[in-house]
Amino acid sequence: MRQARVKPTRVTPSRAGIVVVYPGSFDPVTYGHLDIVQRAASQFPHVVVAVVANPSKSPMFTLPQRVEMLREACGSMRNVEIDAFEGLLVDYVRRFERALIVKGLRIVSDFEHEFSMALLNRKLKGGAETIFMPASPQYAYVSSSSVKEVFSLGGDIAEFVPPSVLRHMRARRGKAKR
Ligand code: ADP
Repeated sequence: MRQARVKPTRVTPSRAGIVVVYPGSFDPVTYGHLDIVQRAASQFPHVVVAVVANPSKSPMFTLPQRVEMLREACGSMRNVEIDAFEGLLVDYVRRFERALIVKGLRIVSDFEHEFSMALLNRKLKGGAETIFMPASPQYAYVSSSSVKEVFSLGGDIAEFVPPSVLRHMRARRGKAKR
């Protein structure tokens, strides 16, 4: 199924400065993701959170919903833009004159996958460099999938996701019950 296209917001990519692209499925965004966004935005002039339109696992939320939750959560960060892309990350990144990919690293198991992806993304035509940020200890165990699992079993996830996500999750559960 083809997902709706999402138009980029606010920020016109500055051609002069370096752009940091933070890709992910964000299904849904968690405080762990937001911690990486905030820290990247405090170090670089322009951060683009790039939502993968069709992640390999079928997502709980549609692309427009994932983008909307991110926009609500990042609304106050002036140098952060939310966008979406389909296809290869290196093809997306190529639209910026100077860009770096940023990835968050939680536990050892993230490393293996992220390290090979980083090498691949450098090797592919138009390759881009990746920088890694270690997860903050308080979020090192938070993932979108664990948050969804805890929520589906009736657990409290308010500590791990922003209010916009909680609203969407509750609305979704409400609909499922009807
Ligand atoms: P998930 O692995 O939770 O499904 P994504 O595919 O959306 O998430 O992840 C996008 C990026 O964010 C990846 O680089 C991932 O390692 C990173 N990330 C996810 N959760 C956290 C967290 N709690 N702290 C730091 N980085 C994270």
